Amino acid sequence: MHIGLLDILRCPFCGGHLELVTSLFHRADDAHISDGVIACECCTFPVVDGIPVMHLNAASSAARAQIEAGNTEAARLTMVGVSSADRQTAFMELAANADATYTQIVDALGPDLEGGYFLYRFSDPTFVVAESVVNAVAGTVLGGRGRALDVCGGSGHITRVLAKHAESTVLADLFYAKLWLARRFMVPAVAAVCCDGNVPFPFARGAFDLAMCTDAFMYLWEKRAFVGEMTRAVAGRPRGTVLINHAHNQLVWSPSHGQPLTPAGYRNLFEATPARMFGEAALFSDVVGGVSIDLGRAQSDTDLAGDQALTLIASPVDAVYGPHALATPTSSGGDWRISPLYELTNDGDQVRGTLRFPDEDYEYDYGTCRAYLPNDVTVAHADLDALNQGTMAPAIADLVRRHVIVELPKRYS
Ligand SMILES: [Zn+2]
Repeated sequence: MHIGLLDILRCPFCGGHLELVTSLFHRADDAHISDGVIACECCTFPVVDGIPVMHLNAASSAARAQIEAGNTEAARLTMVGVSSADRQTAFMELAANADATYTQIVDALGPDLEGGYFLYRFSDPTFVVAESVVNAVAGTVLGGRGRALDVCGGSGHITRVLAKHAESTVLADLFYAKLWLARRFMVPAVAAVCCDGNVPFPFARGAFDLAMCTDAFMYLWEKRAFVGEMTRAVAGRPRGTVLINHAHNQLVWSPSHGQPLTPAGYRNLFEATPARMFGEAALFSDVVGGVSIDLGRAQSDTDLAGDQALTLIASPVDAVYGPHALATPTSSGGDWRISPLYELTNDGDQVRGTLRFPDEDYEYDYGTCRAYLPNDVTVAHADLDALNQGTMAPAIADLVRRHVIVELPKRYS
């Protein structure tokens, strides 16, 4: 972690500033803390492989003791959370191998970490809607300036989109392994903080211009406290905005339901700045339409009753609430490839792709991607090569916009 993070980091329990305990084992230079212990008036927390762990569960306490003993490798294994000796060995070997891929390390960490479908995430319907909303909201609120927070951001798939619009970005999640993967593959320049979204966030009041949570809110029990913390994170900032993407609707069953609220229930959580709410079905239609996404539409709780998922925005920036031209995806420094949802065959100087879902469950959950992913595509190798050199040929611009061609982090699979 960059030591500048200490300026906005606060203890979740006493609210105090944190400092590196220089009398204990640490690996740090003038600008970064790699491993060590940071302390406030009430607690000590470990920094493990550049990630501060701002909670006090059993793994955190064990990792702190291991850091104090100078055993950084053991602390990393503790926080990554692999218990079997075989998986520990596999993880350590891959972690030490600069060529190891995200997919290999996820496999080594076990099947539960990312679920089965992370490979396809950059073209799945939930992602493409969230991406367009983030481009619209963060593009308007931040416009390349300010600090953004992505809470429950996992291994950073959507953080990559957010980070393009901010001067600096913090990714927070309870699962250390996801944060470790995010820093290695997805968003290396983003600060990662391991913390629990059910208790006060470990950040100073008003540290952020935009606080976001995507596809996780319905799994949090302390929803009232969470919205309070999101609001506190942007309090006093003239453009301070809270954005919650893909919150399931209690009124409509979905395969990974969580503990969602009704539209009225979500609205009720926003006490200071009222939230505007959008049904994801309408936003999805906007994205498929390919022109603009309309955050100016007014949808009542009755209108939203049939929507499986909702987007909530609380912003003092009036320009957020209007139509936003859809942006063609841009590079974050990764590799442009045909979506892994396509089975590819080489045909001379072209490659042909046929849409193939990994299984019936994927098709059930995400089959609406057929609205923008054609069944068959043909792409010239030269056009794909040129795209990876920074030039988008007109022939493939539409395929990029439709997420047939996606930009994957380097060494993703
Ligand atoms: Zn404290």
